[in-house]
Amino acid sequence: MAVLKVLTEKVGPRQVLHVDMALDAVPSFPDACPCCMEAVNKGSFIAVKRKGRDDLEVPACAVCAKHTVINNIYSSITGILILVFTVLTIAGVLMYRGAHIAKEVSGGTEYSMVGALNALKWPFTSTIRGGITFVAGIFLAIIYAFIFGGLMYPVGFFLNKRTCKWFQQAVRMSSVFGSQNCQRFTFENISYGEHFALLNGASESDVKSPKSI
Ligand SMILES: [Zn+2]
Ligand SMILES: [Zn+2]
Repeated sequence: MAVLKVLTEKVGPRQVLHVDMALDAVPSFPDACPCCMEAVNKGSFIAVKRKGRDDLEVPACAVCAKHTVINNIYSSITGILILVFTVLTIAGVLMYRGAHIAKEVSGGTEYSMVGALNALKWPFTSTIRGGITFVAGIFLAIIYAFIFGGLMYPVGFFLNKRTCKWFQQAVRMSSVFGSQNCQRFTFENISYGEHFALLNGASESDVKSPKSI
């Protein structure tokens, strides 16, 4: 039996299904798309990252193969977008304040740029100021994380089918090391995960009543 364990896990309001298999087991995939469960298209697949090995190509439908690539690119640049927007906002606020003070002091706008640039040094002039900037940065990063995370939904709305079960990665793989080392397949479409488990030798009872972790 290639399948060692079938487990279920709650991820936020949703559920995923983990199927653990022996490290050297070669999985068979159902003839359905892991995201929407519709028929697969020849030549379409979802590339699943594996540590130290080539990506595993899981057969999928053409629509889901495409939205997975776009969703993956989007989620990989979200971190950078959050960082860039946070830094730009802090710099913008400091420069605005610096320009404003320069104008007050000189009574004109000729020193605005000097004041604005000078203000960028503010966080580095004392530990407390550095700390204040840092806390403000964390606060902004959280806000931007909400904004950019939330933008994923309209992006998904246009790219995904109504039957898509995708919310982070329709299918992913990881290695689990413990009492029994194994490769873990994680599915967001539970029915697909159940099909996969049965196809790879899991028993009906394991699949119908998976242990939760
Ligand atoms: Zn699909
Ligand atoms: Zn899909």
